[in-house]
Amino acid sequence: MKLSPLQNDRAAGVLVALAAGDALGAAYEFGPPLPDETPVLMKGDGPFGFDPAEWTDDTSMAIPLAKALVSSGPELASDASLTKVVRERSVWAAGSKDVGAQTNAVIAAANAATSAGRPVNASDFRTAAHAFHGRTGRSAGNGSLMRTAPLALAYLDREPGELMAAAARVSALTHVDPDALEACGLWCVAIREAVLTGNLNVRAGLALLPPDRRAVWLSRIESAEQSRARDFHRNGWVVEAYQGAWSAIHSTVSANLGPKHLRQALEEAVRGGGDTDTVAAIAGGLLGAAYSFTSVPFEWRRHLHGWPGLRTRDLMTLGMELARGEGTREQSWPGAAHQDYSMWTRTDVLVQHPHDDGVWLGGAGSLGRIEALGIDAVASLCRLGSSDLPTVAVSDHASFWVVDSPDPSDNADAAFVLAEAAAAVEQFRSEGKTVLLHYVRAESRTPTVAALYSAASLGIDAETALDDVLNVLPNASPNPMFLDIVRSGRCASGRHKPSARGGLPHNVRTA
Ligand SMILES: [Mg+2]
Repeated sequence: MKLSPLQNDRAAGVLVALAAGDALGAAYEFGPPLPDETPVLMKGDGPFGFDPAEWTDDTSMAIPLAKALVSSGPELASDASLTKVVRERSVWAAGSKDVGAQTNAVIAAANAATSAGRPVNASDFRTAAHAFHGRTGRSAGNGSLMRTAPLALAYLDREPGELMAAAARVSALTHVDPDALEACGLWCVAIREAVLTGNLNVRAGLALLPPDRRAVWLSRIESAEQSRARDFHRNGWVVEAYQGAWSAIHSTVSANLGPKHLRQALEEAVRGGGDTDTVAAIAGGLLGAAYSFTSVPFEWRRHLHGWPGLRTRDLMTLGMELARGEGTREQSWPGAAHQDYSMWTRTDVLVQHPHDDGVWLGGAGSLGRIEALGIDAVASLCRLGSSDLPTVAVSDHASFWVVDSPDPSDNADAAFVLAEAAAAVEQFRSEGKTVLLHYVRAESRTPTVAALYSAASLGIDAETALDDVLNVLPNASPNPMFLDIVRSGRCASGRHKPSARGGLPHNVRTA
């Protein structure tokens, strides 16, 4: 499907925010609810001993679904695709420390049931899932809801009813209880709408249910909207995981939607206690869809990683490829090895920041000089191909998307992204690193972020900061909105300030 730049940003946000919520909650899994003033940190450990910013089973089992759907062509959620999913999930489970009880039982039974030499398939999983349900009388754990979000991205250009049915098929690989099938369908339809429109509308799929089930789910949603995430302490059950995730989102709505809401809602999900990583992963999938990749804080994205050896950029790429529905495109960003800037002139600009010798300001051509200059951290404001990436540690390369436009509607939240980039420079400098801040020609984005860094991190008057930065960069000509962002100090202290539009993105509402 052909997407607008903002839809692309939102599609890229689904898996990244899901994984960020998952990794954020990993440290607190099975713990009690936390007071509102307790900081929620990306600190790792928890009952399974995860590394800081390492995602858990929620994301690890969403990834095989995403990869299968990218390569499945028009036959989405077919048995052939789902067989790829269950085989990769089986590989993951064999080496994993945190397979959920119900999922573990189904995976073990499905693999045990295959005859010698025949690899497991989707049908084996369905049979095992039905047997589990028949044996226990219930199979409504939250395991299928936490990992089904990628499906929504593959169904952007199809009818929501098709997505609802496909979500049930994916859930039924492990969880056949009607509550699990419906929860997956409803959440996926909400994610689909969020990517397409920017709206947070958890009721979007209700009309697709039979009237009696519609009434049940409406009542559950209304209950969530009168509660806090911590009120749903049986959140290992798919219904309370769904309610906890929506409650975390709904209860943190304020004048500050967008990036600030994404952060507060995920922190609220984790403070709810219990299955914290899963409730935050569920919430993250929907929040990322509504608020986009660029709304996920860099401090959460920076070290994000997990099975099978993927990082933030990989999840961003998977999300975009799923949404486009054209498989892996190796000719264009982000799948391409090289981003061609050869038609641009004067990309070799490279100067030191007027207020900090440890920060270099440059164009795309300056990337080839970082080793010679001892640069060990890079903040990129332009697209780079996979082979163009700077030769620094992955976690020392900060990447930001912001459209160079004076029109606020061209970016999800330009002030937030520009402030995040300035804060990343500050963070790298606080770690003693020498930093390159660059765009293609260091024309608009680079001087803006450089001036924001001077103003927000070094305490220099905004007008002086701009004058001095513009004097050293020969191509500099920031657009009027970017200049206004620096001059108004709206993001003077970076990540936690309201958005540039007075905090209320016009295209986001809750319903
Ligand atoms: Mg988990």
